[in-house]
Amino acid sequence: MNQADAPAHLQVGHWIDGQLVHSSTPGGPARTQPVYNPATGQVARQVVLASVADVEAAVASSAKAFPGWAATPPLRRARVMFKFKQILDERAEELARAITSEHGKVISDAMGEVTRGMEVVEFACGIPQLLKGEFSEQVGGGIDLYTIRQSLGVCVGITPFNFPAMVPMWMFPVAIACGNTFILKPSERDPSASLLIARWLEEAGLPKGVFNVVQGDKVAVDALLTHPQVAAISFVGSTPIAKYIHDTANQHGKRVQALGGAKNHMVVMPDADLDQAVDALIGAAYGSAGERCMAISVAVAVGAIADQLVAKIAAKAPEIRVANGMEATAEMGPLVTSAHLAKVRGYVDAGVAEGAKLVVDGRGLKVPGCEEGFFLGACLFDHVKPEMSIYKEEIFGPVLAIVRAENFEEALALVNGHEYGNGCAIFTRDGDAAREFAHRVQIGMVGVNVPIPVPMAFHSFGGWKASLFGDHHMHGPEGVRFYTRAKAVTQRWPTGIRSGAEFVMPTMR
Ligand code: NAD
Repeated sequence: MNQADAPAHLQVGHWIDGQLVHSSTPGGPARTQPVYNPATGQVARQVVLASVADVEAAVASSAKAFPGWAATPPLRRARVMFKFKQILDERAEELARAITSEHGKVISDAMGEVTRGMEVVEFACGIPQLLKGEFSEQVGGGIDLYTIRQSLGVCVGITPFNFPAMVPMWMFPVAIACGNTFILKPSERDPSASLLIARWLEEAGLPKGVFNVVQGDKVAVDALLTHPQVAAISFVGSTPIAKYIHDTANQHGKRVQALGGAKNHMVVMPDADLDQAVDALIGAAYGSAGERCMAISVAVAVGAIADQLVAKIAAKAPEIRVANGMEATAEMGPLVTSAHLAKVRGYVDAGVAEGAKLVVDGRGLKVPGCEEGFFLGACLFDHVKPEMSIYKEEIFGPVLAIVRAENFEEALALVNGHEYGNGCAIFTRDGDAAREFAHRVQIGMVGVNVPIPVPMAFHSFGGWKASLFGDHHMHGPEGVRFYTRAKAVTQRWPTGIRSGAEFVMPTMR
């Protein structure tokens, strides 16, 4: 199906200047790409892919809206966020269903995603407090100094398929509350959530042009990265693209934060509560079919616990109820596309070929009624070695690798030696081991008996090493810093008491 034979209601367009548009290219038809329902394998709709002209139109709208929005008192901006939060509360399920229908994750998990996104909106409601500056009275005779943080201009968010609502909500509530305008370029694989968000922001009272959406691929991204009127880029996605985004945006003089891929380890110490560790691993490795940047994809079994750990996971993993995510009892849905399914299956094949022991093989799974869906059952590898591709590379599917380590130091060295540094966890009853781990581990987000340590909205989210390019983590205090720049004002109000030129720095000495 191409643009010509896709009915308008089955096309996902852009949201520019308060309107749904399909193309700004004069006279030319828009390029489109199919969007699938991963549970059925059927094409659900077509997403329009932006041309450079579409991006120009979005940037022009955002740039026009910026001065008025930047001058709007923070309290008023916060009130729009309050209203948006109310709308999200009322319509969370509608958004969750849109996510499940294109991403495939189970509906309860999609509701969880919406909730985590809403928490950033709640955080942004406190923007008048967060933007309070610093004031020093009498830094010299009759001289005061204050520092304020001001908005940047047009900010852009480029987001991945795996959290089509939450990851954009890590960015735009803070950016907009800080007085910026924002252009979202969502993943072309699950684009519909972005349009619900755009409509609801408008309903909440956001002036047109403050939030625009351009759907698209590399053409849209490159036009945004190089546009002279774009001030800042926030990106979340895979590591090679994150690095490209960071370097290109930097070369074009933009502020940039680019979060990349992950290979999150969970260290299970010999004294850990075994059943708790097993339950944590089942949820963290196979939840959302492993398509989470904070999923645990490697369990490091320390010492004698390994055999029992593997046996218990091997018993539970095949019991996970894999089904269409829309079914209320489903525990794991399909992968996002057939191409991604083929990639993940390829890693399972590679693991076998490299000599790891495939203890649970999900490749034969069939889901009744969804035979064309992009499903893969849970897979478990034991005796994985650091030189294997299934250990080194991000798989982003329901594949858990068990690596065996002799002791704590060996386990820590594995985590620290890995290219990625997003999240990690340790399961233990020993406070000393946990503290030592948290202190020495080279990872941005650390869990102690918590498998997926995603920081709350009022803290900041981000990894280290190849999981982050740029200086700032997202949302929380780091988000406010990223979306504002400091201005220091030194002032005095001469009354005529003093006169004549001064040629020295006005200091207290
Ligand atoms: P991706 O890198 O393929 O795509 C991310 C975005 O970049 C999309 O909007 C896409 O359209 C755009 N893009 C893709 N290729 C491009 C190119 N060549 N040039 C310019 N733009 C391009 O990522 P994905 O497959 O959508 O998402 C999964 C990845 O995201 C995983 O690696 C996962 O670990 C990562 N992720 C990381 C975090 C984090 O917080 N670190 C969070 C979620 C997802």
